[in-house]
Amino acid sequence: MIVVLDGYTLNPGDLSWDGFEKLGEFVCYDRTESSDIISRIGDADAVITNKTPLTAETLKACPGIKYIGVLATGYNVVDVAAASKAGIPVCNIPTYGTTAVAQFAFAQLLNICHHIQDHANTVKEGKWTACPDFCYWDFPLTELAGKTMGIIGYGRIGQAAGKIAQAFGMKVLAYDEYQNKDLECETMEYVSLDALLSASDVISLHCPLFESTEGIINKDNIAKMKDAVIIINTSRGPLVVEQDLADALRSGKVRAAGLDVVSTEPIKADNVLLKAPNCFITPHIAWAPLESRKRLMNIAVENLSSFQKGTVTNRVN
Ligand code: NAD
Repeated sequence: MIVVLDGYTLNPGDLSWDGFEKLGEFVCYDRTESSDIISRIGDADAVITNKTPLTAETLKACPGIKYIGVLATGYNVVDVAAASKAGIPVCNIPTYGTTAVAQFAFAQLLNICHHIQDHANTVKEGKWTACPDFCYWDFPLTELAGKTMGIIGYGRIGQAAGKIAQAFGMKVLAYDEYQNKDLECETMEYVSLDALLSASDVISLHCPLFESTEGIINKDNIAKMKDAVIIINTSRGPLVVEQDLADALRSGKVRAAGLDVVSTEPIKADNVLLKAPNCFITPHIAWAPLESRKRLMNIAVENLSSFQKGTVTNRVN
């Protein structure tokens, strides 16, 4: 049996689960509370999750699981070590959202550079009509050409964001544990983390959430950055120590932050970033254009279909 624990965000009604239904008995829940995870998995052999955690305890309590599919690129919701120990393949969807997430990082950045919505609001409120001049701006406007973009994690999305940055006339500095020197050119080079922090006007996070990257944006690293740096995070919330970022936004050390992800999602009402100045938070939507969700659905079905035929694709463990 195939169980989807939290299918709603992938398919709120504009896609079809047909592909999965053809692969076996199929149940899809819109969302699952932690207290229901074990009972809903029951003796299913294929479990599909997006953000519902699959812990070591859950895997132990559900010995029938033979396959875990994650409906996302980031697979930190699964205790992958426990899955490996139990011999369960964990498969993710590595490529569906590369272009959408890179585009979104720039949507956040361009909003910070021009305050489109803020200015559009003032026009609707009548400020332009009442203006003695032909134009006005209420927020600083910033040109990207000639600036330096530091990209932490130069994998698929990082490289796609890097190409956009280069098209805007920016210089790209990349920090990655694994380097493909063939990518280096006049406008892109790999550097150490410290060099990236100290030389970048904009820092965009595109590394996965690992122990080594958790809290990588913290007060010590922020202190190494240029004054008035812009930080974009479309990767995972816990890469940022939120109190440290809120303090830096308040002091102006960080000029603005564009965040599509936060430490706990949905965001808690008392998240310190909600009251931080110049902090633009979106509800984890970088991945979600219809085009990209269609690709995700197709790859998720192909992953399970391949597993059933004996060849595991997109396995992360
Ligand atoms: P990827 O695996 O292609 O790239 C990640 C890169 O990070 C790799 O090059 C890897 O070498 C590098 N890396 C690993 N550990 C590192 C470290 N300690 N320091 C620096 N670099 C390190 O993954 P991707 O497809 O580019 O996705 C990146 C992340 O984006 C995902 O892990 C996920 O968390 C996030 N994501 C977010 C959304 C969204 O909707 N906001 C959607 C998709 C993916």
